[in-house]
Amino acid sequence: MDQEKIFHALVLDHVGSNACVKNMKISDLPEGDVLIKVSYSSLNYKDGLAVTGRGKIVRSYPMVPGIDLTGVVEYSNSPKFSTGDAVILTGWEIGEKYWGGYSQYARVKAEWLVPLPASMKPKHAMSIGTAGLTAMLSVMALEENGLQSDYEVVVTGAAGGVGSIAIALLSKLGYKVVASSGREEAHDYLRELGAYRIIDRQVLSREGKPLETQQWGGAIDTVGGKTLTGILRSLSHGGAVAACGLAGGSDFCTTVFPFILRGAKLIGIESVLCPSETRRKAWERLSQLLTSDLLERITQVYPLSEIPRLSEEILDGRVRGRIVIDVN
Ligand code: NDP
Repeated sequence: MDQEKIFHALVLDHVGSNACVKNMKISDLPEGDVLIKVSYSSLNYKDGLAVTGRGKIVRSYPMVPGIDLTGVVEYSNSPKFSTGDAVILTGWEIGEKYWGGYSQYARVKAEWLVPLPASMKPKHAMSIGTAGLTAMLSVMALEENGLQSDYEVVVTGAAGGVGSIAIALLSKLGYKVVASSGREEAHDYLRELGAYRIIDRQVLSREGKPLETQQWGGAIDTVGGKTLTGILRSLSHGGAVAACGLAGGSDFCTTVFPFILRGAKLIGIESVLCPSETRRKAWERLSQLLTSDLLERITQVYPLSEIPRLSEEILDGRVRGRIVIDVN
């Protein structure tokens, strides 16, 4: 590989700097045992926080942000992968501590990579990305707890990335999914994804008694704050909530009653350092459950140069579904 080869990447030079697309050389890339020619990345809420500097995500500078990528192995020093293999990388602190996916090339550790499932197009792997992996991990966590199909399952932050994919997965699995959203204009979209019913996000975040009528057999919560409090008080006996996000706030206040009187379970979902074996299982299930048609419907594709603008939009809750970044 020509170490002087020039390519493009989005770079954050220092704390508070604006993200700019710059020319880089292969020799500028950090060490790693696999060099990947990246085809697509994606935009997640955390990328928005990193690129705008509105969250303390980036831990060293200069940084190439982007917590997801997919591409083809150009060179490998590891027996696990060979030149030409199509791979996915999400999390493992890329775009935070290590250089990430907003780049035409990335040099990374082999142990972070998952093979692209045979039936999946690279673009669709990034329609899924960290958001979709998190949705799948949340569904798997609810299944392990024994998701009760005689009650509805609620998904919050429904029109966002994690929410959209969570609705599609649960609906495909045959559950009655209730989408909690603040956007009336997204209702048709949510029904198309498989939502059985839609509630305004304020229904869950309003004040209430410590326990209310049992309503949810399970929940996937991307919002946190008062919304999580609201879910817990209406969780059915033995039900669980997969808590994966904080789009509405990181603090929440509850009583012990849902836990000691209804056996409610609060399950934390963490996608960044999730073990490789679990990831592979999750990606295989994602490839079985999500069709290309559905992934096209939830996806918009943009170039590297649009990331700063889109980062503001995702933090303001104005992005619907998933944004894929075509780095080339
Ligand atoms: P998106 O921005 O795509 O979706 C978030 C959604 O939350 C919005 O679309 C909106 O949905 C809703 N929302 C936004 N602001 C508020 C608010 N102030 N109050 C209530 N609801 C709000 O983000 P992602 O789907 O990428 O991520 C969702 C959350 O999950 C984030 O907090 C992210 O950090 C977290 N996350 C966690 C992961 C983990 O490993 N635990 C991995 C990936 C994401 P609507 O308009 O329908 O109401």
